[in-house]
Amino acid sequence: MTNCPTCGAPYKSGTKCYRCGTRLEDILAVESEAAHCRHEAKLALARQDIVTALGFSDRALYLHRSKESLRTAALVALARHRFSSACQLWRESQEL
Ligand SMILES: [Zn+2]
Repeated sequence: MTNCPTCGAPYKSGTKCYRCGTRLEDILAVESEAAHCRHEAKLALARQDIVTALGFSDRALYLHRSKESLRTAALVALARHRFSSACQLWRESQEL
């Protein structure tokens, strides 16, 4: 998270927004789960388990459509020989 979803203040650290007091634990937990899914997707790719990689990559995108999740999805698309999809995902990652 780069900014508080409520007031837009830059995120610094902690579980509460320093400006508006919004509790950020749930958002941080979802982002952490998305990071875990990206990691698992890359591990699955390394062992050429494309089906598992796709599952984790899709879940990461669902949880947090971040630059990192889009790039992981692009890698999985490349592994699946879905070149058009890979390019589209990579392009979208560049726009974030
Ligand atoms: Zn805030």
